[in-house]
Amino acid sequence: MRIRPIDLPRTMHGKVLIAGPCSAESEEQLLTTARRLHDMGVAILRAGVWKPRTKPGTFEGVGTVGLQWLAKAKAETGMMTATEVANAAHVAAALDAGTDILWIGTRTATDPFAVQEIADALSGHDTTVLIKNPIAPDPELWAGAIERIYNAGIRNIAAIHRGFAAYGQSTYRNRPQWDIPLELHNRLRGISIICDPSHIAGDSRLVGELCQQAMDLGMDGLIIESHCDPHAALSDARQQLTPSELDGIIGSLVIGDNACTPDERLNILRARIDEIDDSLIGLIARRMEVVAEIGEYKRTRQMTAFQDSRYHAVLDKWRDMAAKHGLPGAFVGKLYEMIHSEAINRQIDIIRHKP
Ligand code: PEP
Ligand code: MN
Repeated sequence: MRIRPIDLPRTMHGKVLIAGPCSAESEEQLLTTARRLHDMGVAILRAGVWKPRTKPGTFEGVGTVGLQWLAKAKAETGMMTATEVANAAHVAAALDAGTDILWIGTRTATDPFAVQEIADALSGHDTTVLIKNPIAPDPELWAGAIERIYNAGIRNIAAIHRGFAAYGQSTYRNRPQWDIPLELHNRLRGISIICDPSHIAGDSRLVGELCQQAMDLGMDGLIIESHCDPHAALSDARQQLTPSELDGIIGSLVIGDNACTPDERLNILRARIDEIDDSLIGLIARRMEVVAEIGEYKRTRQMTAFQDSRYHAVLDKWRDMAAKHGLPGAFVGKLYEMIHSEAINRQIDIIRHKP
């Protein structure tokens, strides 16, 4: 699988910007929103017409008539259009109505049967597909969904990062877990990642800071919910921005260049990092050699590999040292956790497998 960067208009300092309401609710709501977004330079309009709602009895979308409103907005403004599809009938209807971009929602992306059904329906069509992350933080499942779409012959593909289900107390409606989209990006080299800060935030006041964070991480674009009258929205009312609020956020974003050619100074700093990394790996390898010797000692004395008191004593020591160097305790704790778990695995091997 060789996925190239997504081919879509890049209207925001080289980044893709998709905006529009969570749901198409009426022709007037969609057209009013589209006109305002178009006036501020947005080139791609989103709107869901089939809404996967958590609870039954809530607004489940207007259905295919919404595709006609999207087509009307496109004819009037020239914007490209995007909607969510969750089964083969949705794909057929959306393609038939001339929708430019189809996205697979987070709940659907979790279900390989549904993704395969969509992939089969897409086969032979040259369209653009965006795949949201599955609800669970599982890069494998996300990559699998993308691969199914790729195998159907679709080449203009991007992933949408919309956060992962959070249960209980949490700042955001969905946990960002930024390391997961970054891992996906590394795994599927070349794939574009578009951030959906609206569904991560769940609150319009938090959308701006998430947009900035996505840009700082070098993501390729944003898909943001915007409604001409958010308070009256039939779905996701709390997280939608008015077009002018959105304009304010976009205008204040600092978008760095992650493709600039490094100059002398950056090269020197990077060479220094490479040297330090070399020492770090060397030190970890030496530490593991000592770990193996201790494993040998424990084997001959029939000691357990894991020693609770020693584990806590070393962890405390790491945290003290970290504090002295101004490093966050939680970060250093995680690092120790990884090194310690590798050490214990080695010692278990030594204790079990050697005579
Ligand atoms: C949406 O984009 O409106 C939507 C339903 O998103 P998600 O699948 O991320 O919940
Ligand atoms: Mn929504």
